Amino acid sequence: MKKRVAILGATGSIGTQALDVIKAQPDAFEVEVLTAHSNADLLIQQAIEFQPNAVVITKDELYETVREALASHPIKVYAGMNAVNSVVEMDSIDIVLTAMVGYAGLESTIKAIEAGKSIALANKETLVVAGQLITQLAREKGVNIYPVDSEHSAIFQCLAGEFHNPIEKIILTASGGPFRGKDRNFLQTVTKAQALKHPNWDMGAKITIDSASLMNKGLEVMEAKWLFGLKNEQIEVVVHPQSIVHSLVQFEDGSLKAQLGLPDMKLPIQYALHYPNRLKSDFPRFSFLDYPTLTFEQPDLETFRNLALAYSAMEKGGNAPCVLNAANEVAVAAYLRDEIGFLAMSDLISDCLAKVAYIATPSLSDLVHTDQETRRMAQELVNG
Ligand code: NAD
Ligand code: MG
Repeated sequence: MKKRVAILGATGSIGTQALDVIKAQPDAFEVEVLTAHSNADLLIQQAIEFQPNAVVITKDELYETVREALASHPIKVYAGMNAVNSVVEMDSIDIVLTAMVGYAGLESTIKAIEAGKSIALANKETLVVAGQLITQLAREKGVNIYPVDSEHSAIFQCLAGEFHNPIEKIILTASGGPFRGKDRNFLQTVTKAQALKHPNWDMGAKITIDSASLMNKGLEVMEAKWLFGLKNEQIEVVVHPQSIVHSLVQFEDGSLKAQLGLPDMKLPIQYALHYPNRLKSDFPRFSFLDYPTLTFEQPDLETFRNLALAYSAMEKGGNAPCVLNAANEVAVAAYLRDEIGFLAMSDLISDCLAKVAYIATPSLSDLVHTDQETRRMAQELVNG
């Protein structure tokens, strides 16, 4: 039986790599749904190649373009975010890959879980914002959430056969990004072109900036907390510039397990989509001879304040991670438009964390409201 896959955010870095995986494994997978936000041309091309049951373009004004281009194909075409929220419920879907970027993925992830679909989760922001609600809902619905993020996939792979053994701690590895070892003086003037050059990974713009600021690792700490049911103090971060050891688990007898490989998202994507069975692949193999030195160092929380801010939002709990995430999304977008400097991103996030009203046990509508309120405040701070 082929797994029928819905890819939300098919035109992005994760989405296109997922389609590469599917193309290479035609006996294992079939594409059922593809969605994209604004890249209509690529969505059309993907739809013609993979012949899904349905596609959704979330930008309404592009609907006619997509519909006309696919008119001669037996493919349903829809537009808008509400359409994404309903297509994920289709009976013919086995697993939903959440590969859209940011808070925008929250509602459709919830709808997919409510419909009982397995989730291959790339969209970490949804767990940062609503980890408590999402994991509780998944438990109620008996839905499994399989991590796509390479660090979390590493931990999940280390846990195979060990789910009955308590975890003592996990160690998430971080590449350190393009500015590892730099000081605040240097960061004062870094351009977006510099920040967009990640040493090891080729990813979408938002996560690439998050990697440069270490916010990505902060988001991943919270992602790990919810995926693996951990206490805050059980999650450590170590900088590992080569990105070969993807993360580690320490068990209660002191044993450490790690998962290693070249930095290539296709492997964790394929593992999540085809769990528990590994598929034979032709992904490039790692050799120790190419990497005679693997190094590890402490993250610099004073230079990279975003990681410290993420830890403090996690400690605070409630709606604080939602505030952190929304402020960060506005800050990254403003940085990418050259409206604020690199260090100003942390100032803006810190201001929002201090100012937005705290809610200890937020409902979904509290989180929606917190997100809106924070975006409004953050945008005001950007505008000055
Ligand atoms: P990307 O920017 O390359 O792609 C984003 C996708 O989401 C596109 O298909 C786009 O059409 C869609 N999208 C954007 N805005 C949307 C909106 N408002 N509504 C609906 N859809 C929208 O991003 P990416 O790098 O592929 O990252 C996707 C997610 O995966 C992020 O949450 C990221 O943190 C996570 N992730 C990415 C990588 C990676 O290597 N790229 C690794 C780990 C985790
Ligand atoms: Mg990662």
